[in-house]
Amino acid sequence: MGEMPVLDAPAAPVSADLDVLRGQIRSFLREAVVDGVFVPRCDGWHAGWDESFSRLLGKHGWVGITLPVAYGGAGLTPLHRHVVSEELVAAGAPVNAHWAADRQMGPALLEHGTAEQRDRFLPGIARGEVYFAIGMSEPDSGSDLASVRSRATKIEGGWRLSGTKLWVTGAHRAQAVLVLVRTRPLDETARHAGLSQLIVMADSPGVEIRPIHNLAGDHHFNEVSFDDVFVPDSMLFGAEGEGWAQVTSELGFERSGPERYLSTFPLLQHLARYARATGDPRHTSAVGGLIARLWTLRQMSYAVAVQLAQRRSAELPAALVKELGTRYEGDVVEIAREVLAIEPDPDSDDQGAVLLAQAIQSAPGFTIRGGTNEILQGLVAKGVGVR
Ligand SMILES: Cc1cc2nc3c(=O)[nH]c(=O)nc-3n(C[C@H](O)[C@H](O)[C@H](O)COP(=O)(O)OP(=O)(O)OC[C@H]3O[C@@H](n4cnc5c(N)ncnc54)[C@H](O)[C@@H]3O)c2cc1C
Repeated sequence: MGEMPVLDAPAAPVSADLDVLRGQIRSFLREAVVDGVFVPRCDGWHAGWDESFSRLLGKHGWVGITLPVAYGGAGLTPLHRHVVSEELVAAGAPVNAHWAADRQMGPALLEHGTAEQRDRFLPGIARGEVYFAIGMSEPDSGSDLASVRSRATKIEGGWRLSGTKLWVTGAHRAQAVLVLVRTRPLDETARHAGLSQLIVMADSPGVEIRPIHNLAGDHHFNEVSFDDVFVPDSMLFGAEGEGWAQVTSELGFERSGPERYLSTFPLLQHLARYARATGDPRHTSAVGGLIARLWTLRQMSYAVAVQLAQRRSAELPAALVKELGTRYEGDVVEIAREVLAIEPDPDSDDQGAVLLAQAIQSAPGFTIRGGTNEILQGLVAKGVGVR
């Protein structure tokens, strides 16, 4: 086995301006809860859609933090974004509306977008007003993403797109979907070649968005079909045929952030308060164990943010953070179920019962969304040279 590139990441940074920023966003969020601007919930980054809250964050400069000032961003680093994200997710704030746009579309536009695409989308993203959905998975292509069958054929002035995307979070509310398509016939000897990305406006003729309700009856994701949709040349995203490399680098942003270990943090806080109140050593030691693991995950996730700040590829360590982090989120739920003497109830007056219910409802998706844990384990194994 050679060197272990997956572990080649610097330790967590400490800097005064990050601490100041953390203090600002934390006190803003505390006041927002007191003022009833939002009610903290588990999985708020995925289940909480609140456009006025996204715009409010935009006004404070907390969306598009890493975007250049010329585009309305704050011109700061991925570490600054990391701090803000961590506070938002930990607070259980409803941030799903702008999450994909802020997390991966903004950086991707800077990396691959044309000047026209940047001018068109980046200022709105930074204002918390422009939302993107991510259309990668298909009915028969999830883990094996290179097998996507959605196809775009070159026609005069643009592309004709046909196909179906599945589990597209927020497509029913986002203005645009970033769609991974095949632009050349499948070559079984080079399956990752011939893929491209298109920005498709959700209101384009031929786009149909059908809701998929989860077990709790909530509507977060969709099946999106494209029936000979015309996509102008100006909406080809990045280079034709480079879709695989682009998606891979976007997944570095998608997999490494605090939302992969803090989705159940509001429940953990409740659990910690409960353990302190009971003083039962079984409870305090269970919570202590969870907090120790959280500390490690935070260090790892920071390390990836440093890598992103240095514009280094982060696909591998991001996969590791997500695999460990999402298992951790699920463990918080299991331990809370054992320790808390309450029944989960989304409509209860008891905040603990509500948080527990929200966490239980979201938990099945933790280790699936953004790539399943089996797939991530395979990536990490390959990365460290044991497979
Ligand atoms: C809450 C939620 C939100 C989502 N949002 C989006 C979104 O916005 N956009 C989007 O494009 N997708 C989204 N997805 C889809 C998600 O990315 C896919 O569900 C995921 O990648 C798995 O694909 P699949 O469902 O086709 O399962 P499959 O790929 O069919 O996998 C089924 C099972 O087989 C295992 N498996 C598959 N291949 C292998 C292998 N080679 N080795 C070992 N095990 C394997 C998997 O780990 C899994 O357990 C979302 C999913 C969820 C749950």
